[in-house]
Amino acid sequence: MSAKIRLYVEHPLGPGQSVELTREQAHYLFGVMRLAVGGHVGLFNGKDGEWLAEVSAAGKRGGTLSCVEQTRPLQMPPDLWFLFAPIKKARTDFIVEKAAEMGAARILPVQTEFTNSERIRQDRLQAHAVEAAEQCGGTFVPEVADLQRLDRVLDAWPEDRQLMFCNEAEVGSALRLAANEKGQPWAILIGPEGGFSDRERARLAALPYAHVVSLGPRILRADTAAVAALTMWQQALGDWS
Ligand code: SAH
Repeated sequence: MSAKIRLYVEHPLGPGQSVELTREQAHYLFGVMRLAVGGHVGLFNGKDGEWLAEVSAAGKRGGTLSCVEQTRPLQMPPDLWFLFAPIKKARTDFIVEKAAEMGAARILPVQTEFTNSERIRQDRLQAHAVEAAEQCGGTFVPEVADLQRLDRVLDAWPEDRQLMFCNEAEVGSALRLAANEKGQPWAILIGPEGGFSDRERARLAALPYAHVVSLGPRILRADTAAVAALTMWQQALGDWS
């Protein structure tokens, strides 16, 4: 048996475990989704897989669920970081949602020289990643990091992590990912609407762990480029094959 409604909780899940609901969760389950005592929910917390849980108490401001059985084990995404320069709010939300759906393990907003926004709402973006996992049947939720400067991220880069550098200056070139680095830690980098500066491009291209790629013969908007790059990576090196 599996439940139609899936809910992320910050609570350990296990046999017989009871889970107290927050006010918002109770409102969603009992007010919006009209669940009642005896109804079923799928729960996940990013660590213990997915659990079928039964409503044992339902109120306006709270409620209790009881875990019945594990319905799916934890499925980890590949070790892939997704770095992107935040753009307008709605498009940034879109990028985080898609990166979570597409199986990024960690999402890192980075400030580049031509990044327009200097601040992000990390908590909002994290909530988008949670919602995406609830929607797409994921049992893992990627962490969304706070905004950091790209040059500082590169200063502290773990050298065993490969970097797929999506460089718009290579538009139309034949540079693609070679499928021979499978199983290693990876990252994808997408620039802002204004693209990368010459200085950034020179530094990135010279990094020993960087793989410069083109995303085809057209310049894509950053949000489109994000999905295209994640698709290309998953197909060549990730869990699609
Ligand atoms: N304003 C820039 C384009 C920026 S596109 C210009 O006209 O040159 C936003 C980001 O998407 C880029 O920084 C890059 O990371 C990615 N991107 C878009 N199209 C691409 C392509 N054809 N090849 C590689 N990366 C691309």
